[in-house]
Amino acid sequence: MQLDTNSNLWTSTIPERPEPRPRLEANIQADVAIVGAGFTGLWTAYYLKTQAPHLSIVVLEAGRVGHGASGRNGGWVVGNLAGLERYVNELPMVRRRECCQVVADNVDEIGKVLEREGIAADFNKGGALYAAARYPDQIAIQKDYLAHLHELGHAETNCSWLDADQLAEKARFRNGYGGIYHRQVATVNPAKLVDGLAERVERLGVTIHENSRVTRLGQHEAATDQGTIEATTIVCATEGYAEDFHDFRKHVIPVQSLVIATEPLTDDLWQEIGMAERPAFADASRLINYGHRSADGRLIFGARGSYAFGGKSKHGMAMSQEDIHLRRDLLVDLFPVLEGVAISHGWGGSLGLSRNFRPHGILDRESGIATAGGYAGEGVAAAHLFGRTLADLILERDSQLASMPWAFANANHRHLIKRWEPEPLRWLAAQAITYSYAGEEVLMKRNKPAPLIKPVLTRMNDFFASIIE
Ligand SMILES: Cc1cc2nc3c(=O)[nH]c(=O)nc-3n(C[C@H](O)[C@H](O)[C@H](O)COP(=O)(O)OP(=O)(O)OC[C@H]3O[C@@H](n4cnc5c(N)ncnc54)[C@H](O)[C@@H]3O)c2cc1C
Repeated sequence: MQLDTNSNLWTSTIPERPEPRPRLEANIQADVAIVGAGFTGLWTAYYLKTQAPHLSIVVLEAGRVGHGASGRNGGWVVGNLAGLERYVNELPMVRRRECCQVVADNVDEIGKVLEREGIAADFNKGGALYAAARYPDQIAIQKDYLAHLHELGHAETNCSWLDADQLAEKARFRNGYGGIYHRQVATVNPAKLVDGLAERVERLGVTIHENSRVTRLGQHEAATDQGTIEATTIVCATEGYAEDFHDFRKHVIPVQSLVIATEPLTDDLWQEIGMAERPAFADASRLINYGHRSADGRLIFGARGSYAFGGKSKHGMAMSQEDIHLRRDLLVDLFPVLEGVAISHGWGGSLGLSRNFRPHGILDRESGIATAGGYAGEGVAAAHLFGRTLADLILERDSQLASMPWAFANANHRHLIKRWEPEPLRWLAAQAITYSYAGEEVLMKRNKPAPLIKPVLTRMNDFFASIIE
């Protein structure tokens, strides 16, 4: 089987898509205009329309529905928020627990809404294994991470330690020393989810225009080349694809992530690997990675990629042979029985990273502009949470979601979310971090004493992690 370095497995599982939806070709008025038909935009539309059916809502998408990260991600649905500590660190434990419960319950909520709405997206709640699976240093890293999760306020019943035997019952890694089991994690086929959700919101009465790139975003106004929408509220839901909007892309930058998929594995291989409950898994490398067993019996495996100079978003799917092999080698290192298994698909895209790691849902009532994003690679569940949150803010609902520390009802993103440094500083820092992380990874994997260089690299990387705050 020829390795396809330019194809998204998820879209290939969807029967032929219908003709594109019509472009916006007139000047119109609406209550809410949403820019971007990914999870954030569509969940916002869904929760607005189900709670306030009288609202007129129009979604404008530059490409097709799910063109951005929502149609091409790794499929993890995580009951956590990347950057949660930035909001809860100063709060009393009782409030921290409440915040963590909200993000944990969000996963079950997604399961329920998909079932209620008949959206078949292969949702499977198999939990996640954050494993120490390749070298002994990973045990301490994962134990520290578990302590961090508990300190944040995550319940011990949701996040607990598995010893080597308990881990092996769930998945058999090369060196399964132990790991964290996070119960509040599910997986989905993201393309089925984004397509199903778009159909559902249309049936509720929301209008979606595809191939309608917004070129100007102003107060109560979103303009394309062929038409303009005047609306009370404009939602900018472009996350890692905000390059048209100078004002947003300075605060949330695109970082690439790249994924591979194996051919469906044989039953014999699955017997050896385990994963009967189809959990998600990751190991403790700084080169953030994420995998799971898909509904059709493949291994899906991704790892964070690079940052492109100037903050260019990744629109094509293509990835290089080198990037494929890096991920394949890491996967085989985790599961040596995969040596010789064919990789059938490889693809990538951009996720959104805010300067201070703050995922956010913001409504600026004065300008009428709302936005959500900065999910830092954990956006599948977060986009649902923040879509619901934006709907509550827009509808002025006095809800628990609207009271969360990451929800801002009367604020402007320019004041809340720090700006990234200008180029070439950003790009240079990204290069330094990438090489330094890779160096630390090599040393840890070698598992030999490196009394000087190892602690220095680790400290340097901790420093890099801290300056992004
Ligand atoms: C390869 C990869 C793997 C990932 N894996 C995971 C994972 O396993 N779990 C997880 O939780 N998260 C993951 N993420 C992150 C997650 O997918 C995103 O955070 C999430 O999908 C963002 O959804 P969104 O709707 O906010 O943005 P997007 O889905 O990126 O949608 C933004 C949309 O805005 C449109 N747009 C942009 N500009 C304009 C304009 N001018 N006019 C009109 N439309 C415009 C774009 O075309 C795009 O469709 C991954 C991301 C990538 C790239």
